[in-house]
Amino acid sequence: VIESKTQVVKDEVFWGCNRRHILERLRLDGRVAYVTGGGQGIGRAFAHALGEAGAKVAVVDLVLAKAEAVACELSLKGIKSLALAADVSKPEDVQRMVDAIVAGWGTVHIACNNAGINLNSASEETSLEEWDKTFNVNLRGLFLCCQAAGRIMLNQGYGKIINTASMASLIVPHPQKQLAYNTSKAGVVKLTQTLGTEWIDRGVKVNCISPGIVDTPLIHSQELRPLVRRWLADIPAGRLAQPTDLQAAVVYLASEASDYMTGHNLVIEGGQSLW
Ligand code: NAD
Repeated sequence: VIESKTQVVKDEVFWGCNRRHILERLRLDGRVAYVTGGGQGIGRAFAHALGEAGAKVAVVDLVLAKAEAVACELSLKGIKSLALAADVSKPEDVQRMVDAIVAGWGTVHIACNNAGINLNSASEETSLEEWDKTFNVNLRGLFLCCQAAGRIMLNQGYGKIINTASMASLIVPHPQKQLAYNTSKAGVVKLTQTLGTEWIDRGVKVNCISPGIVDTPLIHSQELRPLVRRWLADIPAGRLAQPTDLQAAVVYLASEASDYMTGHNLVIEGGQSLW
């Protein structure tokens, strides 16, 4: 008995403030989250994961019907959810989104800035319109969301921001036609690193997830489908990622278990960026 008591005391010194069970530290009970681009694909998987871990989840999408469908799926699981329409590239929409969540649930603890588009055209043919559209959603939208949610989080001294970047921020999958996309995603990583270091001492952690090729409607466009077949041969894992392959990562980055982590780019790509 004496030996085991001594062990407990030693453990308490060793573990410091992190004595709680690891699975408990991954729970998100009482947390308020939102997910942009939550109406399908990766965002839908993130919304389910955060909700299953205990958070209330606002599902946000350009298309309200999609957000409503996912919010309905969450409700059927007993997860508190709401559906909101917002175009993340518009400051007034982003502010309205954050205001609505605060009005409903009092605050925002977890901001999952995931909405993104990939327009795919050969670099020499990429129009300024395509370039601007890509950057407006993928980077300007992300900045607006980080800023609007970040203000609330800084004010309360706590927050977790998880941005969706891409493996394309690191490598250039060949063959490809994604100049604007790849460049915007590299910007997401730098924005994440910059905010992550700027805000960590005020309790706000900012990280991003870089998925490889994920089996969602995004990659089933006519332009992308033939490329995806070629890319598949370069994935050591031998298969595309499923949105569910990313779920544990978003819960980890949203939870206190990752409190010492900020500005990080968590790459989940079945080994594709390594060879
Ligand atoms: P998806 O096209 O399946 O879903 C994206 C969702 O975002 C859609 O529901 C769409 O309506 C919504 N959306 C689009 N523009 C929006 C806007 N302006 N405001 C709000 N919502 C908007 O895409 P996905 O594959 O689930 O991708 C999600 C994120 O993951 C994107 O940022 C994408 O770049 C990134 N990503 C995807 C892959 C992949 O292979 N699928 C790989 C790496 C990164």
